Amino acid sequence: VEIRTESPVVSAGPSILVAGAGAAGLVAAVRAHQLGASVAVVEKGLPEDVGGNARFSGGLFLFPHTGTADVRRLVDFDTDRVRIEPYPDQSFIDEVTAMSDGRATHTLVRALVERSRNAMQWLHSAGVGFQLASSTFGAYASGSVHVVPAGPAVEAHDGGVGLVDALLTEVVRRGIPVHYECPLRQIVVDGGAVVGASIGPQGDVWRCDGLILTTGGFEANPDLRMRYLGPEWGPIKVRGTRHNTGEPLLAAFDVGAAVGGDLTQCHSVSVDANGVDVPGPGEATPTRLSRVFRYGILVNAAGERFFDEGEDLWTRIYSKMGRAILGQPGAVGFHIFDAKVEERVRAAVPGVNPIVRNALDAAAHEAGIDPAGLRRTVDAYNDGIEHDSVNFDVLDGHCTQGIALPKSNWALRIDEPPFLVYPANCGITFTHGGLAVEESGRVLGRDGGVISGLFAAGEITGGLFFGNYPGGSSLMRSTVFGLTAAEVAVEDASQVG
Ligand SMILES: Cc1cc2nc3c(=O)[nH]c(=O)nc-3n(C[C@H](O)[C@H](O)[C@H](O)COP(=O)(O)OP(=O)(O)OC[C@H]3O[C@@H](n4cnc5c(N)ncnc54)[C@H](O)[C@@H]3O)c2cc1C
Repeated sequence: VEIRTESPVVSAGPSILVAGAGAAGLVAAVRAHQLGASVAVVEKGLPEDVGGNARFSGGLFLFPHTGTADVRRLVDFDTDRVRIEPYPDQSFIDEVTAMSDGRATHTLVRALVERSRNAMQWLHSAGVGFQLASSTFGAYASGSVHVVPAGPAVEAHDGGVGLVDALLTEVVRRGIPVHYECPLRQIVVDGGAVVGASIGPQGDVWRCDGLILTTGGFEANPDLRMRYLGPEWGPIKVRGTRHNTGEPLLAAFDVGAAVGGDLTQCHSVSVDANGVDVPGPGEATPTRLSRVFRYGILVNAAGERFFDEGEDLWTRIYSKMGRAILGQPGAVGFHIFDAKVEERVRAAVPGVNPIVRNALDAAAHEAGIDPAGLRRTVDAYNDGIEHDSVNFDVLDGHCTQGIALPKSNWALRIDEPPFLVYPANCGITFTHGGLAVEESGRVLGRDGGVISGLFAAGEITGGLFFGNYPGGSSLMRSTVFGLTAAEVAVEDASQVG
């Protein structure tokens, strides 16, 4: 790398350069500054893009807790009216492990789980407000008590926007500079250690004692998606920031970083087919249909089902549904509902206009589904249901009988007009593979050792998630490892210095 100019990050303590002002980056910047480092943040986007995917997120956090009193330390609520069931460490470990089909790196899983409770307290002390999760599926009323089952219990106040605004306020209060339109391009190595990065349109070199990469995954880069996820991942919808295009990941590979996890895997969901392809500044993410799929069935253009819509709580299955839709003819799916659930569905996705017809055939025709195929599917599905009602509030076990692909819970006949059809596409949320890291946040090289001076946190890292994941664990991962990377980077730099 040719060194043209030098923009020192610093003055006093060790200098830490954070690339990417998203969830992990804002956390790392504040933490490094708390520990006495001199910190600068470089961000590829404009000020209105700050927060990356975190800004688009629902702000949902998954962390272990012992129930009502424990969660009450983060959120103010009336304990007489709300009961939160405990979510033990082991449940979190088991969920992440099971959803990765046992592939998640055990040390990373343990670190995530063990550190997440303190990380939530840290966020709280840094000014992030929380509220009980509005989207927690499975919350139900027991008499006058609102019961939140084990799982993600809280979300940031005002969701992802609230989370980012609170962290950014703390960054600004501390006087940490955030340099916008300054993408990291390359990583500068000297004597076997990372000593800086080239930044911005001119590729100016910024020297630092520790470089923390928090630049997200490569989900917004069609070429890298096609290279790593597969050719079919070119024309899909992107749910979050257009800036997560993966150049820093390649830059780290260029200086010897190893691949962590599986670059072919990602988080992808069912989104409104009429939503934008990639949200531009100020544009809304295409509406995810995850909130509603349990109320009906999901079919392809041939009218055939291909996904067990009632396999589990939505937070445990939604992130593999996008890939399933992408695998269908024309890469399109259709969520089908009838009058019995219309009110619930419309209330859950108010901005989306379905196709509505009194005859199933007419609805199929209008949507571009084979009417005969859909009729066969719905008839077989209805014939496989013996009960007349379901309880959407819990895993009710009301499943279909005698059809090859069951709906394992909440199977309710589709027989009351009008019929509603919501066309759906695959929307990618973030990529799962990335850099290999230790649980310390140090980046591992292909030679098996750590790359001195280089740290990474959040989506740019791999090893935890593989194709499916428990909702709320990504912001938790970014927070936990953003904190750790900052702490270890400052400590390492202090020892060297
Ligand atoms: C619609 C949506 C909803 C979600 N909801 C949830 C949820 O409720 N709970 C949950 O846990 N997770 C959720 N997620 C996932 C979560 O938001 C992300 O996984 C998390 O924000 C990742 O944090 P990060 O810091 O790694 O990346 P990001 O938050 O995306 O930040 C990366 C930053 O790096 C910047 N950048 C990129 N390239 C460069 C470069 N070359 N140089 C400098 N800067 C660069 C980007 O502009 C961005 O600001 C959601 C995601 C989306 C899209």
